Amino acid sequence: MIICRTKHELKQHLSSFRNENKGIGFVPTMGFLHEGHASLLRQAAAENNISVLSIFVNPLQFGPNEDLDRYPRDEERDLALAEACGIDLVFIPSVQEMYPERPLTSVIVNQVTDRLCGASRPGHFDGVGTVVSKLFHLVSPDRAYFGMKDAQQVAVIQQMVNDLNFSVQIVPSPIIREPDGLALSSRNVFLNAEQRVQAVVLSKSLEQASKWANEPEMTIERLETLVKEQISKAGEAEIDYVELLKYPSLQAPDANSAIATFSQPLILALAVKFGATRLIDNRIIETSEVNLHV
Ligand code: AMP
Repeated sequence: MIICRTKHELKQHLSSFRNENKGIGFVPTMGFLHEGHASLLRQAAAENNISVLSIFVNPLQFGPNEDLDRYPRDEERDLALAEACGIDLVFIPSVQEMYPERPLTSVIVNQVTDRLCGASRPGHFDGVGTVVSKLFHLVSPDRAYFGMKDAQQVAVIQQMVNDLNFSVQIVPSPIIREPDGLALSSRNVFLNAEQRVQAVVLSKSLEQASKWANEPEMTIERLETLVKEQISKAGEAEIDYVELLKYPSLQAPDANSAIATFSQPLILALAVKFGATRLIDNRIIETSEVNLHV
């Protein structure tokens, strides 16, 4: 496995692969890899001649009061996991390497960023759009793999790729969960034992919500309320948002409309804080599935 720390090294290695006409699969991450990342890495390795992983904790996507300074890191373990997943090249740039100067250019995706994390974390998706477009230019992948754990990120990146004519195929990948349902996240290590037990309420309410969604007459607003009530039963849970939106446009449907009437997928997205740790999770509610049961 090749490890590149500079853009120059990366370009050199990739151009030799390009000359051999090898298709490149790319997985951008912030490291501290877990099984959720590993599933993307294995998929990229299986579907492409060359698979590239980037590990970069991107300061641009963290707000001033967010957890940039305490974001967990373990390069040695990440490299071992990447190699075990069949990754060919890892790009691990420093902040100085990625941003030798403060960038004056930013990639801003409108509308799909109006709600959810776009609203709760102002500037977050500008940082994501900017770094992902830099990485796409550096790696020139044929396919790029993103987890549906960050469903809004998938929608934002797909919109950016469409709008700016990046010639990369975006491959969304399913959410990987702990046996009890908690979505894997690098931030789960910050949960104390009690918070870890309570955090299961996220996946449990999403599951419950997909059943409630089948009830005739169930409306958007009612379902959001039921899910909020369910989550609030966990003593330490502090809700940031619970929203049922159209996917991938992430526009709000009429709050009083019946879920069964929708002919397009909806997403139920949650962000909940346990102490200082903010967790997100979501579930796509296929309306065809809903209709089947009504
Ligand atoms: P991050 O390192 O948090 O920026 O995540 C890098 C990529 O891994 C993103 O595309 C995430 O959506 C994806 N990812 C993170 N956690 C999971 C998970 N539990 N299941 C699937 N993909 C995930």
